[in-house]
Amino acid sequence: MYHHVKKLMFTVDVGTPDPRFGNMLLEQFGGANGELAAAMQYSIQGINCDDPAIRDLLMDIGTEELSHLEVIGALARMHLKPMKTDREAAEADPLVAIAGGGGVTLCNSMGNAWTADYLKITGELDVDLRSNIAAEARAKIVYERLINFTDDAGTKDALQFLMTREITHLKAFTLGLESLGKHYLSIGQIPPSKEVVNLYFNDSTGEDGDDGAADATGPWNEGDDWEVCDSPAFEPTTRQDSVRAKSNGKVGAKKAPKKAVPK
Ligand code: MN
Ligand code: MN
Repeated sequence: MYHHVKKLMFTVDVGTPDPRFGNMLLEQFGGANGELAAAMQYSIQGINCDDPAIRDLLMDIGTEELSHLEVIGALARMHLKPMKTDREAAEADPLVAIAGGGGVTLCNSMGNAWTADYLKITGELDVDLRSNIAAEARAKIVYERLINFTDDAGTKDALQFLMTREITHLKAFTLGLESLGKHYLSIGQIPPSKEVVNLYFNDSTGEDGDDGAADATGPWNEGDDWEVCDSPAFEPTTRQDSVRAKSNGKVGAKKAPKKAVPK
């Protein structure tokens, strides 16, 4: 059940309207990482969620995002309003000015219509929570960029509040995911193939002085149980062949010898 309360979650106070900045704000109203997308993604995930505790988390945050939509909409409206009557302001975005009368519509900052294609809803709870953590990180960085592009104190205050809430949500979704007790490599039911999962394919090769420089090493490809395959595209056998050979016990080298790469 939804109920609208006639007050904003954060009071919006704009000193001098800036129509061009108002147009940028639309990115968080009807854009891919905006508040409507967040509200719909979490709420629809919540409807699908069989875990009552995580469902509550999804509905709490999904509903809060609707309140964010209202705040960013009010803020964008204040900045866009002069477009309705002022020719110079209207030139900041003719679509908003002429078609929309200086109001907000569900478009992004480039005038592209909002689409449900923005939403990531898989019906797999841990996978959805990972999507939500990434969505919150994207929303945070968009707010940060917006804050850097305005000098209006009231606008900065509202954006700082909204940006901070995204970090709060990121924290809640991260802890919600951890509470499921799943290993970070455990996705779905079918286990990965043991012969393949720890193979690191060095598919982009180079040396110092090349574009992108020498091949990098780090925890993503060395130590533990990693096995590095250098330039598998130049090996005489296909990956499928070598995987079959490995599973037959014919290949056991921990690290393939480094090969010269044809220029
Ligand atoms: Mn939000
Ligand atoms: Mn959020």
